[in-house]
Amino acid sequence: MKIYFTLLLISFLNILQAQTDYWQQEVAYTMEIDFDVESHQFDGEQTLVYTNHSPDTLHKVFYHLFYNAFQPGSMMDVRSRTIADPDSRVMDRIEALKENEIGYQHILSLDQDGRPTNYIVDGTVLEVRLPQPILPGKQSVFKMKFKAQVPLQVRRTGRDNKEGISYSMSQWYPKLAEYDEEGWHPDEYIAREFHGVWGSFDVSITIDSDYIIGGTGHLQNANKIGYGYSSKKVKHKKRRPLTWRFKADKVHDFVWAADPDYEHITHTAYDGTEMHFLYQKSNATKEWEKLPAIMAEAFGFVSENFGKYPYDIYSFIQGGDGGMEYPMATLITGERSLGSLVGVSVHELMHSWYQMVLASNEGKYAWMDEGFTSFASTLVMNHLRSKKLIGGTVQEFPFKSSYDNYRRLVNSGVEEPLTTHADHFNVNFAYSIASYVKGAIYLHQMEYIIGKENFDAGLLRYFNTWKFKHPNADRVTRVFEKQSDFILDWYQEYWVNGTKSIDYGIDSVSAKGSQQSVVYLKRYGLMPMPIDIYVTLKNGREIAYTIPLRMMRNHKVEEMGVKYTVAEDWSWVNPSYELNLDIPLDQIEKVEIDKTQRLADISVDNNQWTQP
Ligand SMILES: [Zn+2]
Repeated sequence: MKIYFTLLLISFLNILQAQTDYWQQEVAYTMEIDFDVESHQFDGEQTLVYTNHSPDTLHKVFYHLFYNAFQPGSMMDVRSRTIADPDSRVMDRIEALKENEIGYQHILSLDQDGRPTNYIVDGTVLEVRLPQPILPGKQSVFKMKFKAQVPLQVRRTGRDNKEGISYSMSQWYPKLAEYDEEGWHPDEYIAREFHGVWGSFDVSITIDSDYIIGGTGHLQNANKIGYGYSSKKVKHKKRRPLTWRFKADKVHDFVWAADPDYEHITHTAYDGTEMHFLYQKSNATKEWEKLPAIMAEAFGFVSENFGKYPYDIYSFIQGGDGGMEYPMATLITGERSLGSLVGVSVHELMHSWYQMVLASNEGKYAWMDEGFTSFASTLVMNHLRSKKLIGGTVQEFPFKSSYDNYRRLVNSGVEEPLTTHADHFNVNFAYSIASYVKGAIYLHQMEYIIGKENFDAGLLRYFNTWKFKHPNADRVTRVFEKQSDFILDWYQEYWVNGTKSIDYGIDSVSAKGSQQSVVYLKRYGLMPMPIDIYVTLKNGREIAYTIPLRMMRNHKVEEMGVKYTVAEDWSWVNPSYELNLDIPLDQIEKVEIDKTQRLADISVDNNQWTQP
């Protein structure tokens, strides 16, 4: 009894230990913004309560000043003009910005706990030497005054986008950089931007009464400013400044957009989320009327399959320059066909799971952000097709084009590992396929390795374990390991850290006596994988075999109703393998590797053998 109690105590302490290993910083922003729609400039006052939950004493902090990227000669400008395949939205447009079109964030004053700080501005990074170090577990209050000019819309943020939306306000305020167990992340703004500190926002925006604002969080004073929250806009007879106050908790960024001509619709999704749609009504945006019913279904499906949406509100806002995700909101261009409108809405919505809630560092783990989002979006789109809410037939292999694109990257010769920082890929093509496609295949192929049931449970467990935190590559792989009891570090090592590829083939099939046959398999590629083999008999019967990779220390037994015959395992050092079948050769019609098309085999021509 005593021993039992001691063991219990030890295991309880172990749990506590496991929980205290992880820490993250915390922010509480209060901002007052005085916006001038004539000059496109605004004055800001920011109070930032910063809690240092790290075990380290901080002698400096960093902020991002994203708007400073929109100036000729900025790193974003130079990168865009020198990379081989620049983003078509940027090209040399930053270089061409005039004085009244550039963006900037000028710091007028910055105090820490009432003492002036010593700071330097270096392009998009503000480095602050603290008069008083912040000790572990302690708080500091930063008070900042700043003046900003909204740039002409070039990338993500800005005024007067090509569809005529007045203000797309992302990356618009001085934002504290994140400090985590991997250190500070004061990345310059070149292309990718997401890694923020978890916390709360209380934002008051004073702007001309003609404008309707949509954004992150809940509007606090709808009645006071005469704006029916769930009704159409109210036109004020006389223009005057109005203050819109928004609040949001458990987020790591805040976005807003403003336009005098926004049409505003609200609709409740099937999981109860209150959805807002803000767009300019015109013939070019007529498909927006169908969006509420479709996204209501999408929300229901996603909350059920990918983890319950943890907020109660979400806004689809016409703005920006394509589609970009933010907490509880997205900015998307709106003049689209229905398929395109739903496609971008679903993609940005899925970022609420993979970036806004599972807040991976987009610079270091872009594949966990864009890749997982793409994976989920593909399944959501297929679901909407099955419900006939969008055109097209349900795809049996919805990831086929992902695998084709991945093979295109492998053959291009410019592939770099997923561990490459998002901004540091040599070409945008390699970044895009790596993060959007190879990241999606990380998940789809994980399903192949551990089996669909383990995978589905693991993906939900990942969400529930790491929501409102910063998961990294090890963390997501570990969740799948725990869920499946497979060893999976080799998978991360090969798929994420390297560029070795998979190529297995059936060399030959021959008789072994009168009652047996042998399938001779070869591994041509450098990345090892478990191999599923499907044998179709002449009588139509199909038998599924699985050849475990020895270092997984486990194997699939059954998956989606298919029972596997488990063959002897294959160690990664062996380039060849013999699969013995208790089937006479003349009864076999066909032998096939991975009928489910989840294995990213780069050359599938040698994956089938048919009876000659
Ligand atoms: Zn995305």
